[in-house]
Amino acid sequence: MNNKNIQPVKGTHDIHGEEIKKFNFIVEKFYSLTNKFNFQQVQTPIIEHQDLFTRSVGEHTDIVSKEMYAFTDKGDSTICLRPEATSSIARFAASEYLSGSMKISTHGPMFRRERPQKGRYRQFHQINIENIGEKSPYVDFEMIMVANSLLKEIGVEKKHFRLILNSLGSQADQLNYSKILIDYLSQYRSKLSETSLSRLEKNPMRILDSKDEQDKEILTNAPVISENLSQESTVYFNQVKELLDNNGIDYTIDHKLVRGLDYYTDTAFEFQTNEDKRQNAILAGGRYDKLISLISPRDIPGVGWAAGVERLMSLVNIKNDKEEKLKVLLAVQNDQFLLKSEILKKIYNLNCIHEIKINKNIKKIFSYADKNNFDFILLIGDEENLNNKIVLKNLKTKEQKIFNQSEIKLDHEIR
Ligand code: ATP
Ligand code: MG
Repeated sequence: MNNKNIQPVKGTHDIHGEEIKKFNFIVEKFYSLTNKFNFQQVQTPIIEHQDLFTRSVGEHTDIVSKEMYAFTDKGDSTICLRPEATSSIARFAASEYLSGSMKISTHGPMFRRERPQKGRYRQFHQINIENIGEKSPYVDFEMIMVANSLLKEIGVEKKHFRLILNSLGSQADQLNYSKILIDYLSQYRSKLSETSLSRLEKNPMRILDSKDEQDKEILTNAPVISENLSQESTVYFNQVKELLDNNGIDYTIDHKLVRGLDYYTDTAFEFQTNEDKRQNAILAGGRYDKLISLISPRDIPGVGWAAGVERLMSLVNIKNDKEEKLKVLLAVQNDQFLLKSEILKKIYNLNCIHEIKINKNIKKIFSYADKNNFDFILLIGDEENLNNKIVLKNLKTKEQKIFNQSEIKLDHEIR
């Protein structure tokens, strides 16, 4: 028999104990805040047609070309595990959008076959909002503002993160700028890294994102996009910045912030921790006016962001306050004692956390209650069972009372 332990798949993890508390805390804060801004939750499937991401995220991106979990389904269609949520929401909006602003919130697991390290997993979770249908500096600002408020609400201090901002301009601006960039970079063909060289014709703006030292040096004097934007895009970006200024949200402009995905236009942003490590991006997003037209016959603008829940978890501290509800342990020395007793019904109706424990050894019952922070024990031992009695002990005050099982009023005694 093969009884070797089966480990979780590389890059995946079980979330439990304190970690699951943090996870739920973040997700709950996320939904209560976004509800206030009238975002409506949508849950999209975890499996999608691979085509969705090839067309939206782009086939030359790392996400699609290297990191996708894809397989051929029994028939012939290529299915994948979603690497992100925005494309799925865009697919949904392409068929459901009517008019005005469609504001959507979602959360769930995403899958990317990356090299696992701290803060970088193959299955991780995102919280995500999208605002589809309207293009205005206010809409972009509101997305950033909600992100900023969320970080505050979950207790991430201002000094621990920064907001990085850039404008990628319209599609026409990007075409124009790409030409300028290709001209500049072509002088350094022999010095560029292999990856950057392969991107030079296909996707020159992504070279700005290069981590290669020599590439970085070449890029120091490269023309920047913000100086090559159309008048319209410049005015638009200035208004986003003005709204941020007037609402006390600090930011730093970074001309090299291009984001890893192909579909962004105009406002792009990223919240980073102040630590200088590769996993310092906690929340990222931007405007994507052409995305929906890449996956459907419709042309609808949108803006959105996603935050990595695991990365946020490492920044939050939830106080270990005592749970609000009282914890009651109903212990019996023999499971036969539960058969005819009315106590089960009573305890199920009580607004407390409860657990039923069956153990002959009273000492063990008490030490279990102690270790697990119970407030009360209800005990039916051999003796009590003989005459339909039950012992109630308040573990904090040590006070102990005996009742008839049929007469005890739990909601009166346990408070
Ligand atoms: P990075 O630069 O760290 O690879 P990214 O640009 O690929 O991030 P996005 O696609 O913008 O990330 O996803 C939004 C957020 O999701 C990131 O800011 C990060 O917090 C989180 N995230 C992305 N990839 C992972 C991963 N493999 N493991 C854990 N969290 C992740
Ligand atoms: Mg990445």
